[in-house]
Order: sequence, then structure tokens, then C-alpha cells
Amino acid sequence: MNIILLGPPGAGKGTQAHILVEKRGMIQLSTGDMLREAKDSGTEMGKVVAEVMARGDLVTDDIVIGLIREKIQGDNGGGFIFDGFPRTLAQADALAELLQEQGQGLDAVVEMQVDDDALVERITARSTCGGCGAVYNDITKPWPEDGKCANCGSTEVKRRADDNADSLKQRLMEYYKKTSPLIGYYYAKGQLKTVDGLGEIDDVSAAIEGALS
Ligand code: AMP
Repeated sequence: MNIILLGPPGAGKGTQAHILVEKRGMIQLSTGDMLREAKDSGTEMGKVVAEVMARGDLVTDDIVIGLIREKIQGDNGGGFIFDGFPRTLAQADALAELLQEQGQGLDAVVEMQVDDDALVERITARSTCGGCGAVYNDITKPWPEDGKCANCGSTEVKRRADDNADSLKQRLMEYYKKTSPLIGYYYAKGQLKTVDGLGEIDDVSAAIEGALS
């Protein structure tokens, strides 16, 4: 089963993708994570995208489509979860073609709805574990008092460079201008499932399971 998690920054796509990986053995393909890796490892592409990402703009379609093309060759395990991709109509068309080339298709697009005030609150409080990528929130899910990740024991707390008020404003703008048209696109294709992304992590996870079954 190949699915897309669609939603604005802070909707909880990464958190829910991690859960689906654990529960269903699916493979998470996050273009944001791939781009951050490229940036951290100082590749030419990483240098090109660093500034774009810091501003909260979208990276070019060619770059992200190239990243996804590399990853979807071969075995897809329990299926792919596309997290943060596609973000434009051109990317959505490219994904359909790439999957078709592999003799595969898309089974569902899960739109996670969260209101804007909650997004801002979530993102400015967000941190992740440098060891395993587990997501924490200063208010709703703070780091354990001993400073060690509850999942893997790492003490490395990471905050994203673009999780600040200015970049977030731009990321939201990009979402509404370029990504939200995908909701209509997948609705028209009969693939859209919508879940409320505002509740507790377990409730959202149950809603996603319901949408997928
Ligand atoms: P994310 O981790 O999904 O919030 O992505 C972080 C940043 O990476 C975005 O604000 C964009 O600058 C860039 N990015 C990630 N995925 C894409 C994509 N599919 N298309 C264009 N830019 C992307």
C-alpha cells in the first residue's frame, strides 16, 4: 500500500509516518528529511537548498522529484509513505508517473486537517531526537526529565532552523498557494481521505488506520 500524508507544516505528518512504519513496516519517504541530510552533509545540492529551506520557500520540483525517483526503485517493503511530497501539482503528476514506471500505484491520500493557530503553537514548541527522530513538544510532550529520549536514550535535542515565526509564515503561505490545490486534485481522483489532525497522537493514528482500512 502506497500512501501520501498531506497537510500543512506541523500537521503531524512525520509523527504519524513513524507510527505507520512501526505498525505496518512501511517505508517513510520524507523529502524534508532528505533535503536536511543533504544540507548537513554539505553536498552541492545541500548548499543550494539550504537558503531556500531557511526562508521557508519550496525547493525546485526537479530536485525533489529526483530524490524520490532514486528512493522508489526496487523493493517497497510494506509500502511507501510519502511525507511532505508531493507539494505541487507538477510533483503530483511526476509521482503518478514514477509509480506507474515501477508497476505500482497510489492507494490513498490522507489529508490531515489542523487549524492554523494550532500549527503555529506546535511548530514553535517542537523539537526532535537527534538519535531516532522522535518528535517532542515543550508543552504537550516535553523531553523526559533525565534528558534522555524515551525511545532511544539519546541526549541530542534538535530544533529545526526553519521552525521560527518568519519561516513558518512563509511555509504556510507556500502550503496554501502551492500545496493545498492537491486536496482538490486527489479528491477528483477519488483518492482523498480526510482526518482530524488536531487530537491526541493515538486518536489521530486510529483515524488514519480507519481511513486506510
Ligand atoms: P518539511 O520537513 O516537509 O517541513 O520540509 C522542510 C522544507 O524542505 C520545506 O519548507 C521546503 O523548503 C523543503 N521541501 C521539503 N519537501 C519539499 C517538496 N516536496 N517540494 C519542495 N520543497 C520541499
